Amino acid sequence: MRVPGARCYVAGRMPELPEVEIARRNLARWLHGHRVVKSEADNTRVFRGAKRARFSELTGRVESLDRKGKYLLLTFEGERGLLAHLGMTGKFVRRPEGQVEPHSRARFHLDDGSVIHFKDSRLFGRMEPAPAARLPQLKAIRELGRDPVVEGLTAEQLREALGRSKQGLKVALMDQGRVAGLGNIYAAEALFLAGLHPARKPASLKPEEWERLTQAIHEVLQAAMAQEQGEEQVYLEEEQGSENPFRIYGRAGTPCPKCGAKVQSFTQGGRTTHFCSKCQPLRSKARKR
Ligand SMILES: [Zn+2]
Repeated sequence: MRVPGARCYVAGRMPELPEVEIARRNLARWLHGHRVVKSEADNTRVFRGAKRARFSELTGRVESLDRKGKYLLLTFEGERGLLAHLGMTGKFVRRPEGQVEPHSRARFHLDDGSVIHFKDSRLFGRMEPAPAARLPQLKAIRELGRDPVVEGLTAEQLREALGRSKQGLKVALMDQGRVAGLGNIYAAEALFLAGLHPARKPASLKPEEWERLTQAIHEVLQAAMAQEQGEEQVYLEEEQGSENPFRIYGRAGTPCPKCGAKVQSFTQGGRTTHFCSKCQPLRSKARKR
């Protein structure tokens, strides 16, 4: 389905920090000044291991709507809360009451006659109702590293989080326990911008390289969030012929946007990594940005 004004993405893209932040802002806008009059959830595996019956208790005013990494934390009046993760294909959409939404798995009915659906075709998303006070203590949240946007991230903090990892730099960046929110796309984009090879060992990075990488992380996340601001819906479904908005991700075989060399790819930690061997040499060398 194509919606006018909606942005299209390259195939197989999963939501990362910027997309989850946009989802958070959409929810905040839709819920502002309104009450949830009824909540309902179908029996699907997005509730695996969680008390689905509790979902119907999520009514009234939404008191806070936070994000950490790729997780959303909603608290409702009456000390009730919800942890939500979009997984691969999850998204929140707002529709008029009565409209059927394909792949809708859970719904918030609002007092303005609209319905917020959590739709998820592939069911890798996750919902976990929990008392509001317990949300930050849930295992999924406790185990997360710093969120670069919510909590900030300095070069020193990044070095501390990644420095002892024996993994390649990109795999370490995608480890949610080290830094929360980066996935295959924004890790690749940040490394390209910083001119660092994805397989570099974190211990080999020099202070100025940590600085560059930290700056690049902030830059790619901020740019992605700015681009998507104000859009009603963010569509992440695979679409034929959609334009690739990224500098390096998904560009294997095409010219590098910086130097024109052919973009390379290899498998790293089970995922495809895209990089430019000229702009991102495996050996550290002095370079100017
Ligand atoms: Zn290049």
